[in-house]
Amino acid sequence: MELNIKVSAPYKVVFSKNCLRTGGIAELLSEYGCRRIAIITDDNVRDLYLDSLKDSLKCTFEVCAFSINPGENNKTLSSVEKIYDFLAESGITRTDLIIALGGGIVGDTAGFTAATYLRGVRLVQIPTTLLAMVDSSIGGKTGINLTAGKNLAGSFYQPSKVIIDTSFLNSLPFTEWQNGIGEIIKYGAIMDKRLFDIMERGDYKEKLEEVIFRCLKIKKKVVEADTLDTGIRQILNFGHTLGHAVEKHSHFYVPHGKAVGIGMTLISRWASKRCLARAEVAERIERTLKRYDMPTDYPLDIEQLWQHASNDKKRRGESITLAIAEDIGKCVLQSASVATFNTEELSARVFPSHLKGRIAAPPSKSMAHRAIFCAMLAEQKSVITNIDLSEDILASLEVAKALGCQTNYKNRALTVLPNKKACENVTDCGESGTTFRFLLPVLAAIGNSVIIQGRGRLGERPYSELTAELMKHGACFNRQSGLPLEVSGHLLSGEYIIRGDISSQYVSGLLLALPLIEGDSRILLSCDLQSASYVDMTISCMKAFGVKVDKLKDGFAIKGGQKYTGRNYKVEGDFSNSAFFLCAGALKGDIEVTGLQRDSLQGDSKIIDILKSAGADITEIKNGFQVKKSVLRGIEVDVADIPDLAPVLALTLAYAEGKSVLKNTQRLKIKESDRQQAIIDTLKALGGEAKIEGNDIIIEGKPLLGGGASGKQDHRIVMSIVSTAIFETTVSGAQSVRKSYPEYFLDFKNLGGEYVIDLGK
Ligand code: ADP
Ligand code: ZN
Repeated sequence: MELNIKVSAPYKVVFSKNCLRTGGIAELLSEYGCRRIAIITDDNVRDLYLDSLKDSLKCTFEVCAFSINPGENNKTLSSVEKIYDFLAESGITRTDLIIALGGGIVGDTAGFTAATYLRGVRLVQIPTTLLAMVDSSIGGKTGINLTAGKNLAGSFYQPSKVIIDTSFLNSLPFTEWQNGIGEIIKYGAIMDKRLFDIMERGDYKEKLEEVIFRCLKIKKKVVEADTLDTGIRQILNFGHTLGHAVEKHSHFYVPHGKAVGIGMTLISRWASKRCLARAEVAERIERTLKRYDMPTDYPLDIEQLWQHASNDKKRRGESITLAIAEDIGKCVLQSASVATFNTEELSARVFPSHLKGRIAAPPSKSMAHRAIFCAMLAEQKSVITNIDLSEDILASLEVAKALGCQTNYKNRALTVLPNKKACENVTDCGESGTTFRFLLPVLAAIGNSVIIQGRGRLGERPYSELTAELMKHGACFNRQSGLPLEVSGHLLSGEYIIRGDISSQYVSGLLLALPLIEGDSRILLSCDLQSASYVDMTISCMKAFGVKVDKLKDGFAIKGGQKYTGRNYKVEGDFSNSAFFLCAGALKGDIEVTGLQRDSLQGDSKIIDILKSAGADITEIKNGFQVKKSVLRGIEVDVADIPDLAPVLALTLAYAEGKSVLKNTQRLKIKESDRQQAIIDTLKALGGEAKIEGNDIIIEGKPLLGGGASGKQDHRIVMSIVSTAIFETTVSGAQSVRKSYPEYFLDFKNLGGEYVIDLGK
């Protein structure tokens, strides 16, 4: 096995087996035709390997050796000076050869000496640590530390050859292995999914040569493209900006590999919060590091570390380029500054692009909520698969924990292990209306006294009709609107009369709760049920967990004393969030969305027929739909039952020929934003024409020319703008997508969507 590094002076990396025992080393050096060889090493490596190396060389060459004290403190000018003296005394000339035998410290120090002695003597690197094998031995960086900082003096000096022999590693202490492992995980995370898999599985020792080879191939690729470390080589810095801060702050108590591990975890968590990386990246890195007993946290938080990192070389306010693994095996560069590093406020600049490709529908958030509620009300363990941790789902998860469940999320599967005895008396529903409305009757049915907190517009969203009805049946609440809300009392069975037109979540919440109490109940709807499909989803999920509901003409009959049974449950693909891509496909692409069922109970599955009626070229394929760029015509759609589709339909229909009408938009007012107004504002901001007439929104067919628009702190508004933008468009508040679809931007990118995320605008 060997690699050719094609830089200005090309050289080879050769893999050799037991080179000291087989004597192959002299042969590997014969091409240089030199007489003398000076070996530079450190005391530890000297004691272990110097004699054998000398033995294997002495028939062919005159060999001399010099050893420095081990450790970073000796990577100094004074060591270099001693080596210069030694080289001079030994009569080393420009036609001779220097071997650096040891870890990175020997490599750097001997490399710097070789680069400068007689203006350059040939250098062969024989790395003896895993870290040096995968990293420092190639790339040509050499250098020493100054009092003012690490690696401050140095030069780029390419070796003539690098010899990798893993048998040196047999004597390597475990902490030194860990240093190498940190760097290997980095290579996997930024450029090589398979390498990451090997490290994640933990069987890398059996594949050690392959692992090192893969690392070196990546380093070769990057180094060849950017020998002087100005551009893409920065991706090798993944985990290093914060890692260096950890090293420095701990006065190098935390060694490099571990510090990089911490840095990778922290930056990946940071990036996932900013829509720059998939959540899975941080999780998998963390899990893999733990497998090798490596730390994933540090007493300072990311902001403090960032301060340290930036004090180092950069002035406050100046921007720094960060390497970010947006997916395992895929790295991008993102700029950030001290001023914006901590912001969670993002804006997205979207550029014109054609979208093409296949995408798996994001899991249905609605079904995931219902499954979590059913699972937490069961007695047995449940495993919910195909679930994403959006903020709203995290809110339901938080509630499950408050109700005593142990939860574990791994590989997009959520395990819920209920334990009714471990309940807490405060919980937080975040901004999730579904979680909140389901929770009220459920808590009252269980009979727990709990204070419910929340954020954003949650406190403003209506619930008094629900609590009033619950109070008639034994529940107590300390207020009629706003948060925090204290729930106590114990719900009794009976006849529940509830309006069907404010929120279907009232009905779903009651349906989830009433089977838990003694005695049979009925829910009677005092007016027609809106968004009825959501209630059907609730009933279908409950059925899967073993609880039955009967539909009546004007309501539901629920047997009391039923038990939820824990089970494995797969969440189906989501039509509401897929709609963004289906609409985008109709406007500017050729997209397949998989994981969607034609016969789904989701009301938003209507998007297919709606797009068809507007003239979109959309066809059913195996397990999903394909949609191609089409000429659209204006249509009339009643959105009473499909409010979540309204924003994206409105923006899509703006490009249609002729007028479109969204009917019955009144309930859009009480969503995350006043979506009725938000739709009008957005269309106008982007050059469209729209107005509200009674309960309808009227849209004139007139292409949106782009520009800037506010995302209204509303995920569906943001995703609608981005998905339908034909011309360059900037949307503020882009972070809102985290509410329901945190990886929206990355999925958009996978389809060819072009954008940049700006921090703090
Ligand atoms: P790196 O920068 O590659 O981690 P260092 O040069 O600091 O490496 O080496 C780490 C430590 O491991 C040093 O104390 C060094 O003497 C020791 N060392 C290097 N190679 C070996 C080896 N093959 N077996 C045992 N110890 C080694
Ligand atoms: Zn490193």
